[in-house]
Amino acid sequence: MAFKTDIEIAREAKKRPIQEIGAKLDIAPEHLLPYGHDKAKVSQDFINSVQDQADGKLILVTAINPTPAGEGKTTTTVGLGDGLNAIGKKAAICIREASLGPNFGMKGGAAGGGYAQVVPMEDMNLHFTGDFHAITSAHNLLSAMIDNHIYWGNELEIDQRRVVWRRVLDMNDRALRQITTSLGGVANGFPREAGFDITVASEVMAILCLASDLDDLQRRLGDMIVAYRRDKSPVYCRDIKADGAMTVLLKDAMQPNLVQTLENNPAFVHGGPFANIAHGCNSVIATKTALKLADYVVTEAGFGADLGAEKFLNIKCRKAGLAPSCVVVVATVRAMKMNGGVAKADLGAENVDAVNAGCPNLGRHIENVKSFGVPVVVGINHFAGDTDAEVQAVKDYVASQGAEAILCKHWADGSAGMTEMATRVAEIADSDQSKFEVLYPDDMSLADKIDTIARKIYRADRAEIDGKLRAQLKEWEDQGYGNLPVCMAKTQYSFSTDPSQRGAPTGFTIPVNEVRLSAGAGFVVAICGGIMTMPGLPRVPSAENIRLNDEGNIEGLF
Ligand code: ADP
Ligand code: MG
Repeated sequence: MAFKTDIEIAREAKKRPIQEIGAKLDIAPEHLLPYGHDKAKVSQDFINSVQDQADGKLILVTAINPTPAGEGKTTTTVGLGDGLNAIGKKAAICIREASLGPNFGMKGGAAGGGYAQVVPMEDMNLHFTGDFHAITSAHNLLSAMIDNHIYWGNELEIDQRRVVWRRVLDMNDRALRQITTSLGGVANGFPREAGFDITVASEVMAILCLASDLDDLQRRLGDMIVAYRRDKSPVYCRDIKADGAMTVLLKDAMQPNLVQTLENNPAFVHGGPFANIAHGCNSVIATKTALKLADYVVTEAGFGADLGAEKFLNIKCRKAGLAPSCVVVVATVRAMKMNGGVAKADLGAENVDAVNAGCPNLGRHIENVKSFGVPVVVGINHFAGDTDAEVQAVKDYVASQGAEAILCKHWADGSAGMTEMATRVAEIADSDQSKFEVLYPDDMSLADKIDTIARKIYRADRAEIDGKLRAQLKEWEDQGYGNLPVCMAKTQYSFSTDPSQRGAPTGFTIPVNEVRLSAGAGFVVAICGGIMTMPGLPRVPSAENIRLNDEGNIEGLF
């Protein structure tokens, strides 16, 4: 049987006007700022007006370590949101916006898949409501003001070799990773080395996603470190006096975007920070607004649970005062087989032994999430080729770990394939059994925080942090940054720093290569292994096949 592509299904969607979707959450039309007929921002005034309402239950969707077989976190998030609505609950979903760069490379969409998608998916994967353009502009305004400050006499005594604020672009463009600026003579300033990151790696993106309101946004922007002086003292964005104008550029982008699922249920799509050097979750403002308006809010964290859920819980929930009532860990038979050593080309054949061999990866994630005191359910995202014996093997394994696994067929059947899971998740959320606690206290030293994550989440023997890095961490503690959480930047493919180590590896350490302070976002980044903040395009980028067909429809995007 031939399956329809995601974009074909999306194009057949019977979308309702966005005002009808808003009405499902009791948002009156005047509080929606429409972008066309099927997208709207929710006004800041309205958000302020619902602050006294009670919060709904928060449900996190996370996953095993990703494999090239695909796991389907977004698809499951959307499916569960639809499933909850289908059983009569008032539910909304919260996911991230998509970056343009990967769309023209090889990633595919960020709006879910099959019969569990958010629409309009073309818009969502392209310019959407312009939030990323606003972030790019705000970021680059600061870049321009820094060089301009130096040009006009450098009153702040910025050491031009130590400008840490780079430029950003929402495109995969490796040619811009390392560049020399201000060439061409006296009128163009002082030549110096600089470079570009992709917009989602900007600290401005992380801040937009963690800020509670516009005042908090401006304060955090001001707190960003942009350069150092010769005596190594930091120069802040506030010193450059860019924070006010940046906030103006970001004013509209701070308001969450409302769209709908294929089943016309409300979906907030807002913010999209990298999941390595940043925390990888949609905005706090969208999540908190959704919790005020819906009884159940389903949200997603990037990568596997070792990175995504860990940061969601230790950074986002800690800082925003959120606590999930239930966590769904997505697993697939195919990914279990890959964790069990099967090559991608051989995934089609039934192989229960390989499923069993790969399950310890899932087991470790279950144990980790439980260690935060939150109840866990495993969602087996069903693929067409999965056999009953393979599905049963996953269920049996999960049961042996003292948890439960539920087969989910939302990709093929929409909410009808999610009824059992939705019912169970609602039951767990309503039972208030979650006793959420962060993994480490604020006042633990920064080095110990890194080591705690390495040992307790990754199951490494320890984190390797050399003397120079320890001295740097100590300096930040002395400057008052010691109570920040840490944001681990590590490969998403393994618990270790070696992407080829699938399953549940032991007997390794986590070498920390570099530490960075994101003083505005409010975390210390520990970089473990090579992390790319400006991706490149593959040999044959998907852009080569993207075009408008004779009907004016987009082809080749997904
Ligand atoms: P993640 O959020 O984990 O990165 P997505 O939900 O975005 O994953 O899914 C990635 C891709 O896998 C999408 O193109 C989606 O259509 C596809 N996919 C997800 N679940 C299934 C499934 N059950 N069967 C077939 N394809 C699926
Ligand atoms: Mg996703």
